Amino acid sequence: MFGFGLPAKIKRIVGKEAVLDRPEDLMLYEYDAGINRSMPEVVCFPRTTEQVSRILKLSHERGVPVVPRGAGTGLSGGSVPRKKGIVIGLARMNSILEIDLANERATVQPGVVNLELSKAVEKHGYHFAPDPSSQKACTIGGNVAENSGGPHTLAYGVTVNHVTGLEVVLPDGRVVEFGGKSLDAAGLDLTGFFVGSEGTLGIATGITVKLTRLPESVATLLGIFNSVEDAANTVVALTSAGITPSALELLDGWMLRTVEQALHAGYPMDAGAVLLIELEGISEAVEEDAEAVRLICLRMGAREVQRAKDENERQRLWMGRKQAFGAVGRLSPSYYTQDGVIPRTKIPQTLRKIEEIGKRYGLQIGNVFHAGDGNLHPLILFDVRDPEQTRQTLEIGREILEYCLSVGGSITGEHGVGMEKLSMMPSMFTDDDIEVMTRLHDVFNPGALLNPLKVLPSARSCREAYNPGHPSLGESK
Ligand SMILES: Cc1cc2nc3c(=O)[nH]c(=O)nc-3n(C[C@H](O)[C@H](O)[C@H](O)COP(=O)(O)OP(=O)(O)OC[C@H]3O[C@@H](n4cnc5c(N)ncnc54)[C@H](O)[C@@H]3O)c2cc1C
Repeated sequence: MFGFGLPAKIKRIVGKEAVLDRPEDLMLYEYDAGINRSMPEVVCFPRTTEQVSRILKLSHERGVPVVPRGAGTGLSGGSVPRKKGIVIGLARMNSILEIDLANERATVQPGVVNLELSKAVEKHGYHFAPDPSSQKACTIGGNVAENSGGPHTLAYGVTVNHVTGLEVVLPDGRVVEFGGKSLDAAGLDLTGFFVGSEGTLGIATGITVKLTRLPESVATLLGIFNSVEDAANTVVALTSAGITPSALELLDGWMLRTVEQALHAGYPMDAGAVLLIELEGISEAVEEDAEAVRLICLRMGAREVQRAKDENERQRLWMGRKQAFGAVGRLSPSYYTQDGVIPRTKIPQTLRKIEEIGKRYGLQIGNVFHAGDGNLHPLILFDVRDPEQTRQTLEIGREILEYCLSVGGSITGEHGVGMEKLSMMPSMFTDDDIEVMTRLHDVFNPGALLNPLKVLPSARSCREAYNPGHPSLGESK
């Protein structure tokens, strides 16, 4: 597939120390944090928009596929190069270009790590609100591509609600600008359209985001329940009472014990579930809501409601939630994180269904998720070296997503479709829906050379290779 001399040409663009083409190096770029694999032929690390543009021009001329990659924490195989070719790693484009406090905006290169932006503006009383649990590692370019959410999505929304402008390199190498610093740009809203396009329309090389003021006051509560059912019912009771916590996270009993053993976050080992509830705002309102939340939790069957006494305790409780996936890694050679959405009123019955599915297959499933958004993350423990367990795990994932759809939900809340959920797209969308999305995709990426075989089962290149079965775990060995 690779044209003669292409790696040498890429080295001339970015410098030879910014190119990897030895198999032992390339192996590190054949996967993200999900379970799909495929090895690229070359990986390069540009530092400027101009270098990205020159690489895309080259790939366009030669007909070579290209896949953008941030930190590789994606969970749906988005940065896995299904058709091999070039991976453009954006990690070295990691400068904060401008902090404009007067207009509450920052402009960053795509490789800036999510948490680094909040750290840079904290001293001015601001933060970047989208906070995926992977925020210590994931990049803002990856957040834009996946339209990432996080624990605080309930109050602040997802990434698209925080991006006002983009500089994008198109698959043929042209550089275009969408939006700017204002909230509503003239013309079509291409910024909104680009966010969530999973690296299939262009490569974001400059991103202008909103900066959000840090709240005057924060209260973090831990509702402790004997049963997961009571905790799930409390989620609905809280939101029906007109209280919008900034975060409302649920960990079931198995998950909280796993987290506690690994991280000592302060979760009670004998509970059936905990709710991590955060309230933000002006002090009086936060105090009023915190008392209302405490009373609702107790009325709904909580045996106790604790409150973080200081910032250290708050950080410890959050560390348990944000590092929960890692804690599972101690117990099992592999785990598969699903990402489905349901109306929050359906949480109790969906958790029962997940438990029933896990028992039927004989595999452990833990739950830690954004309960306020109805965004589930069942973690299925398995051994990827065992083909039968792997097949069963994928089958479980599919059954859970089908159940989410059957109760009016969605196949993804924040991790994207990538290559992982391609085969589920026709279960969620009609042929006409997919046709419209495909035509829009083709305007930007007509040859489907940029991130091929992702998101849209009927996109030009997917039509050839679309397999309605399960996503392949390995495409290049
Ligand atoms: C432990 C853990 C916890 C997580 N928690 C959350 C969570 O709470 N919320 C959430 O939403 N996600 C979560 N994720 C998923 C993941 O972290 C996010 O999807 C994140 O935004 C990916 O960023 P990245 O830099 O790692 O991107 P990558 O994984 O490298 O890439 C993701 C996609 O973005 C594309 N891409 C990357 N950079 C660009 C660019 N500059 N221009 C165009 N396309 C680009 C890639 O091609 C790919 O399709 C979690 C993952 C892990 C491992």
